[in-house]
Amino acid sequence: MAKARKASQTSKTRTSKASPAPKNTAGKPVIIVESPAKTRTLQKILGNAYLVEASMGHVRDLPKTKLGVDIEHDFQPTYQTLPERKEVLQRLQKVTQNAPIVYLATDPDREGEAIAWHIQQALNLQNAQRIEFNEITASAVQRALTQPRPIDLHRVNAQQARRILDRLVGYQVSPLLWRKMRGGRKALSAGRVQSVAVRLIVEREREIRAFVPEEYWKITATLTPLDEEFPFDAELRQKGDAKIELKTEADAKAVLQDLEGATYVVESVEKRQRRRTPPPPFITSTLQQEASRKLGYSAKRTMQIAQQLYEGVDLGDEGSVALITYMRTDSVRLSNEALQMARDYLQQHFDPAYLPEKPRQYKTRAGAQDAHEAIRPTDVNRTPQSVRPYLTAEQYRLYELIWKRFLASQMADAQLEVTSVTIRAKDYRFRASGTVILFDGFLALYSEGKDTAEKEEEELPPLPELQENEELRLIALKPSQHFTQPPPRYTEATLVKALEQHGIGRPSTYATILSTIQERGYVELENRAFKPTPLGEAVNDYLVKYFPDLFDVPFTAHMEEQLDTIEEGKADWVGVVREFYEPFQQKLNTALNGDDVIRVPVVQVARACPNCGAPMVRREGRYGAFLACSRYPDCKTTLPIGATGIRCPLCKVGEVVERKSKGKKARLYYTCSQKECNLLLWDKPTGALCPECNSPLVERVQKRQNKRIIFCSNPECRYQVEEELEAETDVPAEAVGVE
Ligand SMILES: [Zn+2]
Ligand SMILES: [Zn+2]
Ligand SMILES: [Zn+2]
Repeated sequence: MAKARKASQTSKTRTSKASPAPKNTAGKPVIIVESPAKTRTLQKILGNAYLVEASMGHVRDLPKTKLGVDIEHDFQPTYQTLPERKEVLQRLQKVTQNAPIVYLATDPDREGEAIAWHIQQALNLQNAQRIEFNEITASAVQRALTQPRPIDLHRVNAQQARRILDRLVGYQVSPLLWRKMRGGRKALSAGRVQSVAVRLIVEREREIRAFVPEEYWKITATLTPLDEEFPFDAELRQKGDAKIELKTEADAKAVLQDLEGATYVVESVEKRQRRRTPPPPFITSTLQQEASRKLGYSAKRTMQIAQQLYEGVDLGDEGSVALITYMRTDSVRLSNEALQMARDYLQQHFDPAYLPEKPRQYKTRAGAQDAHEAIRPTDVNRTPQSVRPYLTAEQYRLYELIWKRFLASQMADAQLEVTSVTIRAKDYRFRASGTVILFDGFLALYSEGKDTAEKEEEELPPLPELQENEELRLIALKPSQHFTQPPPRYTEATLVKALEQHGIGRPSTYATILSTIQERGYVELENRAFKPTPLGEAVNDYLVKYFPDLFDVPFTAHMEEQLDTIEEGKADWVGVVREFYEPFQQKLNTALNGDDVIRVPVVQVARACPNCGAPMVRREGRYGAFLACSRYPDCKTTLPIGATGIRCPLCKVGEVVERKSKGKKARLYYTCSQKECNLLLWDKPTGALCPECNSPLVERVQKRQNKRIIFCSNPECRYQVEEELEAETDVPAEAVGVE
């Protein structure tokens, strides 16, 4: 499926109503862009000399109700004007009639090129020129206007090929799945690249299931120098000259006994200087990863907010201003102007030591499109604080992230001194490490988020000043139990990283892949990590069986490369589509004639039936998954997914159900499983009623403060109590074998 590119509307900018088409009697040049926000920003830059109009995204597409691709005749597509764009096209027709020239200024990538081409085709424009800019700033736009060019048909064809490939898969695999599915949901669909993403998630889940955790023990000594109280931890590493391995509690106890009364002496002290270089400025994938780790935004949400910042935000008296460069890019390149801008800013606001001698140039991954630039602020002097009053909270936080990352990428290295100490007790050796930050460099502004709990060197606390042969005093000697960990489930951040590393998808597609596989019910997020649903596993197994080497990583990556080759003008798009379609069609026929069916296994969930006490199971229905009593048809009890087991405090019949709101700001809310009941709360009900006003009580858990706040859902009522959370009993285990 192609990315649905819609015109974005920032919440703080004016909504543009469809004003009547201006009569272009003066014969002004016309510029066409995708969105009203972009229109406002451009119009502000260009003033009255140009008419700027919005196409509202795509104006034509393949038909909804049929394939729209002529397989017999070189996959020729049939495009239709989108019904919702008829009026827009009429308006554009009028405005462009008297125009001496029409500039198509859609976004600077394949899809933007395709939108420009469709506009030109739909309006039959004879005098259209393509211009592109990576940022909607006066200098970039003026420069673009001096370099108009014809539409790049290679780029358009690369986009067409992707659209057609995805259409062929979507429209031909979906009916196959409907036919082969047994019981429950019928409206299944499959996507070319999405299927590979689901496959990665399923395969990871099976690795996790197959993983057998192994127990191991650690012994940690807390020590201090004799002459000052400066406790630090050292970990047991060796006995004699061999690495020590403690498998059981008995092993650990034997060592503890052995060490009773031992003296602890510093055997060696080693100091190393380390440098840390800043991470490169953002590209699409790294922006999505960091926004997920640090801000908790989904890839889709991140792209929506970034698009608002790119298209322009109303900065009060200044009008609409674009705050960042184009957000779909795989290039870490920075223009010379951008480098100078960063260096000037650093010179003015930081000590000279923070400015490296020369600007930093980052290397872009091979195959990336280097005409693009990294994602960066258009003007670094617009500090996050200075624009904060005009931004939504989300826009502010994302802008701050981009602004800091950009500046940090041009700052000096951090310098660390890492000290490693070996401590001897009898013939056992302990090891401790500590870090002193000699110079923080870019870390003063920014440090990159991580996907694992492991500590970076710069995060280790410093050690006391120690000498060889110095005797230490033992404060405590503690054994702790651990288990080896399976590979972690993918998060949004690590899945984007994996897709990029495997060469699947492109800056314009990561976010769509991630949201589509969730919307189709093939995977779910649990504690922000992806887990396949039983449906997702069943469909995946079926597709892997019949299309083993089409919906796999190497072939999908190969197709991405082929699309790049089309864009470079070195391959013919029809040939590329055929390379996929011929084996695909053979396999499709085999599957259609095969006897295999898709059966979603019935999975028991940790819930008892509220009516008969039998276990509940998860089933797939016409409209998605739900919970049903395992004694069906004797007991016909069903519950929605998300049923909490808490009796509804209002009707006392239904059960509280946790749901997720759809749309941009997805958040949890709570309703009742009884349709007639009108329970609706944003916080989780406890099931009890307020002793003062009889409204449902709700709770909020504050993990950091280790407490649960229970308060009344009636905003007029002040009833509130706090309680301490029970201590977590989990043994802290070290992550082993993670990325
Ligand atoms: Zn039952
Ligand atoms: Zn109820
Ligand atoms: Zn109350």
